[in-house]
Amino acid sequence: METVDEALNKAQVAFLAYKNFSGRKKATFLRAIADEIEAMGKELVETAMRETNLPEARIVNERGRTTGHCRMFADLVEEGSWVDARVDTALPNRMPAPKPDMRKMLVPIGPVVVFGAANFPLAYSTAGGDTISALAAGCPVIVKAHPAHLETSKLVAGAIEKAASKTGMPSAVFQHVHGHGFEIGQALVKHPFTKAVGFTGSLAGGKALFDLANQRTEPIPVFAELSSINPVILLPDSLSRDSAKTASMLAASITLGVGQFCTNPGLIIAIENEALQNFISVLSIEIQKALPGTMLHQGIADNYAKRLAIALEQKGVKVEAQSITRGDTTQGAPFIASVSADAFLKNSTLSEEVFGPFSLIIKCKDINELYAVVVKGHGQLTSTLIGDETEIAKHKALLNVLVEKAGRLVINGVPTGVEVCPAQMHGGPYPATTDSRFTAVGADAIKRFARPVAFQNFPEALLPDELITENPLGIWRMVNGEFKK
Ligand code: NAP
Repeated sequence: METVDEALNKAQVAFLAYKNFSGRKKATFLRAIADEIEAMGKELVETAMRETNLPEARIVNERGRTTGHCRMFADLVEEGSWVDARVDTALPNRMPAPKPDMRKMLVPIGPVVVFGAANFPLAYSTAGGDTISALAAGCPVIVKAHPAHLETSKLVAGAIEKAASKTGMPSAVFQHVHGHGFEIGQALVKHPFTKAVGFTGSLAGGKALFDLANQRTEPIPVFAELSSINPVILLPDSLSRDSAKTASMLAASITLGVGQFCTNPGLIIAIENEALQNFISVLSIEIQKALPGTMLHQGIADNYAKRLAIALEQKGVKVEAQSITRGDTTQGAPFIASVSADAFLKNSTLSEEVFGPFSLIIKCKDINELYAVVVKGHGQLTSTLIGDETEIAKHKALLNVLVEKAGRLVINGVPTGVEVCPAQMHGGPYPATTDSRFTAVGADAIKRFARPVAFQNFPEALLPDELITENPLGIWRMVNGEFKK
């Protein structure tokens, strides 16, 4: 495809220059992106509101998160230690063989293709975490615009292009492509100059692009965030004390943003007893009170209606509560349902994501059945345990299993609300993501778009600045086994 070929050729030329730009220079660019996004003021906010049906406060908040991560990555690359430099100096007299001089650091991987998310028109789209972390790493980016918010995407692309030109970046350091159908996206993934892909969206779409990338002559990594139902486990003793409070907290999380968050709690697992009945009663009242909200686009609303209907028609599933439904097909009405653990364990359809304000309660006969449900669960972005410290301490085996299943474990909280900070982990075993070793949120997201290179027996004058013995950049490094500046 001509446009794609042209875009990738330009990206490759840009890469050869941009990969050697200093952290300080890249930081100027990233900060300028934040400034240009802010400079668009109301125009951007109003366009995003019109295209996504999201309220003003949410868009303004997302804009803050977007400019926040631009500046966070600017600080990170300006400081420079993210390259994880190792210096192991030579031991010429070592016996029986001399040790060579070995030095290693992360370098940018090459041009990156980004598929923005429908549910985050700013923070996970054109200037989202994937784009900004790839640019920070030193990789040119080509964004495939999400059709659900094309005008917003074009505005943000314009801001990035302006920032690139003002700060002296190569002209094709960032490119924006759009068009109908899957052809463009697939051609971008297949192009030999593409070296990595960032994706947030459906399991079917992300898996198709992942498979395509693996069928290339040169397979490349696809960092795709796909599907997670974020189980919440209610421990019995604690539930008997706090069932109403827990129900209110979870109702707010289930209905937040019309349930259109990858961290939405789609599964609640508990032992069937009086406390669980109280919990369900309070949760039902909250769900009935919650109003349906307009979903991001017709496709997501249709998908919610379809997936919900499939879940509700499964054997043994009982609707516990639903909010009023309006005739409008773009509305997502909150729903909760329940099913026995036995029926759940026999039916894998019930483990599939219903993207929207829905949660399924799994009623377990006893703690052994609860363990069985947890053990059977597939990979997740998050898992949550509700219980006091003493009770959780009695279930260390449960925690042990949960560590295998999710990228983030939450105690006495809700999975929605993803803090952007260095200790964040937003990723998890498949199908939550296609590579559980990496996070899509927080400073470490940059590591997806870099690869380690070792430099053996290099004269000082030929080493990258990060690896020179004198440490002219003053960064943290591991030098002969010692972590120091
Ligand atoms: P999507 O259908 O996966 O589309 C996302 C992007 O990927 C779009 O740009 C789309 O291209 C492209 N794409 C999808 N399949 C492709 C393929 N086979 N080949 C090439 N390109 C492909 O996701 P969506 O429209 O954003 O949302 C649909 C559903 O995804 C939701 O209902 C929900 O279930 C899920 N979702 C999950 C999350 C999460 O965080 N887990 C977030 C958002 C959505 P086009 O531009 O041509 O459409």
